Order: sequence, then C-alpha cells, then structure tokens
Amino acid sequence: AKEQGRNTYQFYTEGMQEREVMRLELDKDLNHALANDEFVLYFQPQLDLNDSSINSVEALIRWQHPRRGLLPPVDFIPLAEESGRITDIGRWVVMAACRQLAKWQNGPYSNLRIAVNLSGRELDDESIVDHIQEALETNGVPADRLEVELTEEIFIQNIEHNLNQLTKLHKLGVHLAIDDFGVGYSSLGYLRDFPVDLLKIDRSFITDVTERHDDAVITRAVINLAHNLGIQVVAEGVETREQLTFLKNHRCDLIQGYLISRPIPAAELEKALSSGLLD
Ligand code: C2E
Ligand code: CA
Ligand code: CA
Ligand code: CA
Repeated sequence: AKEQGRNTYQFYTEGMQEREVMRLELDKDLNHALANDEFVLYFQPQLDLNDSSINSVEALIRWQHPRRGLLPPVDFIPLAEESGRITDIGRWVVMAACRQLAKWQNGPYSNLRIAVNLSGRELDDESIVDHIQEALETNGVPADRLEVELTEEIFIQNIEHNLNQLTKLHKLGVHLAIDDFGVGYSSLGYLRDFPVDLLKIDRSFITDVTERHDDAVITRAVINLAHNLGIQVVAEGVETREQLTFLKNHRCDLIQGYLISRPIPAAELEKALSSGLLD
C-alpha cells in the first residue's frame, strides 16, 4: 500500500509539473497572441421564448493557439487575469464585437445584439467605459446593440467604483446583464441600486430543473423576482426540450444552451440563421 501511495504521489507531482510547464508556456505565448491576431469570438444565440426569435448572441472568446489548437477561455482567461493582460484582451473583445455589429448592421442580421463578458478586473480599469464608447462610435454602432455581462463579484468589491462605471455605461445605452446569477454570495440589495436589465440564471440551477423540486422552486422565484423589478431573465445551459417547456411555462424570457446551438463562429451563425436551422 505504501508503494502504491508513493507511485500515486509521484504521478500526481508529474501531472502538476506538466500543468505548471503548460501554464508558464501559455503565459509567455499570451504576450504575442494579441499582436498575432490569435483570438476569435464565437457566438452563442439566445432564443426569445415570447416569439421564438433570435435577437441576441453572447460572444465567447477562443484562442487559436499556433501549436495547441483552439483553446477555451478556462485555459487562458485566469492566467490573463493574474498577469493583468486581461485589460488588453477585454478591449480587443469589445472592439471585435463592435466590428461584428457594424458588419451585421445593414442586412439580414441587423436585429442582432452582442453580449460581451467583462470580469471585475476589467471593470477596475478606469478607461474601459471610454474605450467602449469609442469602439461603438468608431464602428457607428448604437449603444443598445451592445450588452455587458458581469458576475456578482462586482457587487462585493469596489462597489462604489463599479456602480459609477456601470451607471456611465448604462447612460450610454449599453444593456447590463448579471451573469451566473445565484451562485455568488452578494446580497440582493444591488438589484435595487444598480441599473440591471437582465439576469442570467446559472446553468447549475437549470441542469436538473425538471427533476429537482428545489431547483424548480429557485428558478421560478428568480423569474418572478426579476419580473417584479422589471428585469428580463435568461436561462443558461438549456440542453433539453423538457427544460425549454418548463422555462416557457414559467415565463422565462430567453434561453441559451446547446439545445439551440453551441457557440459557433460568425460565418456559421449567419448560415444557421439564414437557413432556418435555429427556428
Ligand atoms: P459564461 O459567461 O457563463 O459562458 C457560458 C459558458 O457555458 C460557455 O463556456 C458556453 O460555451 C457554455 N455553455 C453554453 N451553453 C451550454 C450548455 O447548454 N451546456 C453546457 N454544459 N455548457 C454550455 P465557454 O465558452 O468555455 O466560456 C467559459 C467562461 O469563460 C464564460 O462563462 C465566461 O465566464 C468566460 N469568458 C468567455 N469569454 C470571455 C471574454 O471574452 N472575457 C472574459 N472576461 N471572460 C470570458
Ligand atoms: Ca456570460
Ligand atoms: Ca454564465
Ligand atoms: Ca460562468
């Protein structure tokens, strides 16, 4: 048993070393990723349950790494947050989203809005609001085409600064969404104090919503709470017809998830929309 224990330990440390090496390598490569134009935005549509239309898509970043292939955000966003490089990546995301909106503006996809993810760290940056305004203006895109998704962490730290930033953004006309709603530890008071347009119920409540009574109760309560405050509700991670039916019956406004589509490149999204695949 002792022998086995030692082997396990060795295996474990080797695995850790490998991960650490990869981490360091990726961290170094991140230095050049922006200059080499290696980031891409994938888009995941949100289905409006009231009229079965698609009017908004969430932009999710991917890194087309020259050797490792297409990397998901979990492989590099935490690294970028630690090093502070997230600020530049976030600016790129905003600019790329506005460029895409400009492309869609005249044509069959002119109804689409794009939601981008901003971390608390990115909101710390004093000039991010100016940058967003500039990205919109440079591309001739109306502010209400852009949505910003934020997690509840922004209601726990730097509250005054964040309220100030979000108030400015909202005044521009940018829509604000609370991401991963229900998994944070903040009080509900911020729903009163912050200009929130949308709540996105976290996938962890949706996965078993048709099987688990408590998840169903929480989901219904969140929908009612939001509606009574004049806030729209998006359910995240919808994968089954049964979940869709439940959410429709309980007046959820929008759903997002693999049932409708995985995140896909812009060209694929256009194809899917125009061929009615998402109807
Ligand atoms: P998120 O904002 O909560 O995004 C939703 C995640 O759930 C996405 O993972 C999406 O692909 C995945 N997802 C969507 N529908 C389903 C479903 O039906 N089932 C399951 N199992 N998963 C589903 P992704 O693209 O890997 O992104 C992970 C996280 O990375 C995002 O979580 C977000 O927090 C962060 N992220 C993505 N893009 C950006 C970005 O541009 N900036 C920042 N700061 N963070 C980003
Ligand atoms: Ca999000
Ligand atoms: Ca989310
Ligand atoms: Ca998340």
